[in-house]
Amino acid sequence: MLANQDHLLDSDYIPPDLVKLTVKKISSTPIEMRAAASEALSTMFSAAKEDGITLYAHSGYRSYKTQNTMYYNRLKKNNGKDDGVVAYPGSSDHQTGLGIDVINKAGIGKKFTSAFAKTKEGQWVAEHCWEYGFVIRYQKEKEDITKIIYEPWHLRYVGIQVAEYMRDMNYCLEEFTDEWQRTVYEYEH
Ligand SMILES: [Zn+2]
Repeated sequence: MLANQDHLLDSDYIPPDLVKLTVKKISSTPIEMRAAASEALSTMFSAAKEDGITLYAHSGYRSYKTQNTMYYNRLKKNNGKDDGVVAYPGSSDHQTGLGIDVINKAGIGKKFTSAFAKTKEGQWVAEHCWEYGFVIRYQKEKEDITKIIYEPWHLRYVGIQVAEYMRDMNYCLEEFTDEWQRTVYEYEH
């Protein structure tokens, strides 16, 4: 499932199998993801722990309504101008229930920055996330395609096979979706 500025999700789209995450979180506020993503995240957090890396889940599923509120609050704060910080309602990867922001202890309560990529937690995530079916959704060298700044903390569940393929091909989700849809079309015609 692709959500971006060109592929807006419906305002009433709610993933069918949301569950509450059982992993370590930044606060007691529940975080939801789709069942398979939640399970994969638990496996990944445990593997990280074994390597001496403690990860914290920050935010997962975000409803259209919440995106809408966030978006218009940001506009108000920014004199009505869209500065690209908050995703346009329906374009957030978080609405898919497959996106998750993962940070380290030092990052709790602070603004997200690309400096996370240089921390040992950020490095672990970048190196291992695909083994658990996750990809870094917004890569630095793909900013032109995703139209979103580099976010080393935002992981997207795609399943292990696709994550591995995307890694090998150096694809972002937009590129993968393009190729996948083309392949399906060619197969059917
Ligand atoms: Zn995010």
